[in-house]
Amino acid sequence: MKQDKRGILVVFSGFSGAGKGTVMAELLRRYPEYYALSISATTRQPRVNEQDGREYFFKTREEFEKMIAKNELIEYALYVENYYGTPKAYVEEQLAAGKDVILEIETQGALKVKQMLPDTLFLFVTPNDAATLKKRLLGRGTESEEAVNQRLLKALEEVNEVIAYDYLIFNDTVEECVEEVHSMIQREHRSVSRNGEFLAKMKEDLLGLSKGE
Ligand code: 5GP
Repeated sequence: MKQDKRGILVVFSGFSGAGKGTVMAELLRRYPEYYALSISATTRQPRVNEQDGREYFFKTREEFEKMIAKNELIEYALYVENYYGTPKAYVEEQLAAGKDVILEIETQGALKVKQMLPDTLFLFVTPNDAATLKKRLLGRGTESEEAVNQRLLKALEEVNEVIAYDYLIFNDTVEECVEEVHSMIQREHRSVSRNGEFLAKMKEDLLGLSKGE
C-alpha cells in the first residue's frame, strides 16, 4: 500500500553510455502505472531512430532560450555544446497525480534540482568499469571516435559530482538494474520523512482509541 499520495521526483543520472535510456525504457515498460518519464527539450540534433516528442522535444537555440526566459524549465544545462532542459508543467502534473517522475538528466542539472527540490531521490547509474563504458559508447556506433573521447572526458568530470547523489546503480544486466531501481524508489516511499501525514493520523487515532472512542 502506498502511504504518501504525491509522487516522488527521481533524478536518474549516469555516465553517457552507461545504459540509462535502456534501463528507463524497460522500467516504464514493466511498471507503467508507477512511473512517468519526463521528456526533455534539447538543441542537439536527433539521432537516427529518435522522434520529436518521444526521446526529446527537439528545439532550435532560439526556441530553447525562449523557454528559459518564460521560466518554463525546472532546470537546464549546457552539455557538450547543446542545451538540455526539463519542462516544468508535465512533471508537476504527474507528481500531483501520484506518479513517481523520473528525470534522466546530467549532473549540472541534477545539482540545480538538488538546490531547488532537496527531497528528490538521486540515483547514479554506472557500468562496472571505465573500459566497459568506452566499449558501450563505441558500440552504439552513432558517434565519431572524437565525440566518444569527448564523452569520456565528460564522464571524468562527472565522477567528482557523484557525491551529491544518494545511491549508485550498477548496470550489469538490464533486468537486475531495473528491479534495483524499482525497489529503491518503492523503498523511498516508506521513508519516515515522507510519511508525516500517516504518522499524524496514527497519533490522532491512537489517542482516540486509548480514550475508548
Ligand atoms: P544525449 O545527448 O546522450 O541524449 O544526452 C546527453 C546528456 O544530457 C545525458 O547525460 C542526459 O541524461 C542529459 N540530459 C537529457 N535531458 C536533460 C535535461 O533535461 N536536463 C539536463 N540537465 N540534462 C539532460
